Amino acid sequence: MADVLEATTQEAAEVKAPQMTDGFHLVIDALKLNDIDTIFGLVGIPITDLARLAQAEGMRFIGFRHEQHAGNAAAIAGYMTQKPGICLTVSAPGFLNGLTALANATTNCFPMILISGSSEREIVDLQQGDYEEMDQLNAAKPYAKAAYRVLNAEDIGIGVARAIRAAVSGRPGGVYLDLPAKLLSQTMDALEGQHSLVKVVDAAPRQLPSPDSVKRALDVIKNAKRPLILLGKGAAYAQADAQIRELVEKSGIPYLPMSMAKGLLPDTHAQSASAARSFVLQEADCVVLIGARLNWLLAHGKGKTWGAAPKQFVQIDISPTEIDSNVAIAAPVIGDIGSCVSALVAGIGAGFPKPSSEWTGAINERKNKNLEKMAATLAKNPSPMNFHSALRAIRDVLKTRPDINVVNEGANTLDYARSIIDMYEPRKRFDSGTWGIMGIGMGFAIGAAVTSGKQVVAIEGDSAFGFSGMELETICRYDLPVCTIVFNNNGVYRGTDVNPTGGKDVAPTVFVKNARYDKMIEAFGGIGFNATTPEELTHALEEAIKSGKPTLINAVIDETAGTESGRLTNLNPQSAATKK
Ligand code: ADP
Repeated sequence: MADVLEATTQEAAEVKAPQMTDGFHLVIDALKLNDIDTIFGLVGIPITDLARLAQAEGMRFIGFRHEQHAGNAAAIAGYMTQKPGICLTVSAPGFLNGLTALANATTNCFPMILISGSSEREIVDLQQGDYEEMDQLNAAKPYAKAAYRVLNAEDIGIGVARAIRAAVSGRPGGVYLDLPAKLLSQTMDALEGQHSLVKVVDAAPRQLPSPDSVKRALDVIKNAKRPLILLGKGAAYAQADAQIRELVEKSGIPYLPMSMAKGLLPDTHAQSASAARSFVLQEADCVVLIGARLNWLLAHGKGKTWGAAPKQFVQIDISPTEIDSNVAIAAPVIGDIGSCVSALVAGIGAGFPKPSSEWTGAINERKNKNLEKMAATLAKNPSPMNFHSALRAIRDVLKTRPDINVVNEGANTLDYARSIIDMYEPRKRFDSGTWGIMGIGMGFAIGAAVTSGKQVVAIEGDSAFGFSGMELETICRYDLPVCTIVFNNNGVYRGTDVNPTGGKDVAPTVFVKNARYDKMIEAFGGIGFNATTPEELTHALEEAIKSGKPTLINAVIDETAGTESGRLTNLNPQSAATKK
């Protein structure tokens, strides 16, 4: 009898025992509930099990060799999808490695969430010397759009929801989410845990412009003699491709794309003024900025670049504080780009004046002249190959595959590729962006390949490639269709500088001569090519794309080719000694 009683009590206890969950599961459940299916990261204390669990629960975990590149992959995934890209790191040093990418994402208005494990609060706050001790939340704050810490398991759902909303609403940006180790192992009732999760509703709501602002903008455009539309990467991010095309074509206004807005309309579009960039910036009397900031990339909207002709600016942006940041804006239109552009299109009726043929004719004349000049430069076949002849070869191959994602960084490699390689589809070009940062190469390439499932061609200066080169192993491990082309001219800018003392050390800008970057990828099972002529480069790129495998082309460029800092020579302060 006693036995029976005991057994019954035990069974009852088993039935009643609440199902438990923990911080690890709640984080993964919260992300999945919000349709986040991929994490880019690097494991270690205390988040290894979080990565394992994510994979076990059907999420994709892409493991990197350095957190900065995981962060860059997350950021570009966010830019491509309008969903925050997730980067997961360990505490202090791993977090700091990821922070560069978070800051870059915030600067570029890319939505991402950096999730880092952290050490115990009570030890960190008393500065008692914990393992990887750091006040990560406060370190992240100046570089993120928002930063949150979760201390209790029941708040994980709210923490993740706040992070998602902060990343994608309004002007997108980087968000930091701090998860102390203790939180991850905290347990709570599973049902209560499930109820604590939040599915974010309408994370990036449309923001309609005020009718007055639209009317004011239309009046400014209507009265312009030489109008110009300037498309920035905010316009590409907004995924309002059809509306933007309609605005451009219905208004007949010539347009200029910023580098990551290339392909929003095909670069071959008749109204593209790219080949007459300096001319239109100087001569336009009205500039309609759509998701582009008047920062250094646009010479702050003033000075020589913009010429003497007085200008009126119309600016479409989701962030009201962007307006008047550098020069006075005559007609701000605040709202999401889709809504703002649609409102402008609706106001462009049959009687709306088209730009004069005098203006469009002058642009075309300048364009044709510059294109002819460029064609002559590109047709040359110097030996060794230079930037132009190598890029001509790449351009001709990429022309046949407009669906390919292009990553681009370097000094000269960036400057020349930007103008020589045409883009035909939106959100296919990913580059050094607002900071002009080096080191985004392999991170962006992996992020773009994982997110799109399509071929990536990363056009890299040899110096720029060095920042993320170890991620070739990651590319090979996940068997990603990434072809990296290293423009190898033996150094930073070029490879010919000499140590003026005649000492043993090479000059600060010089690398190992005749390095074979193609051998690096072979070490991980990828395919390497060495190309010394445009023909070899064409062949290698075609083969690489055909294989769909991890590939690297060592493109040997004349080591005397390349100027200091590319087109940014003017930003280099010169020492008095050099000036003499
Ligand atoms: P670029 O470097 O190509 O000139 P920027 O990064 O300087 O572009 O500018 C992007 C701008 O686009 C930012 O000011 C940002 O606030 C804005 N933006 C981003 N997304 C949207 C959106 N969905 N609607 C309106 N503006 C947006």
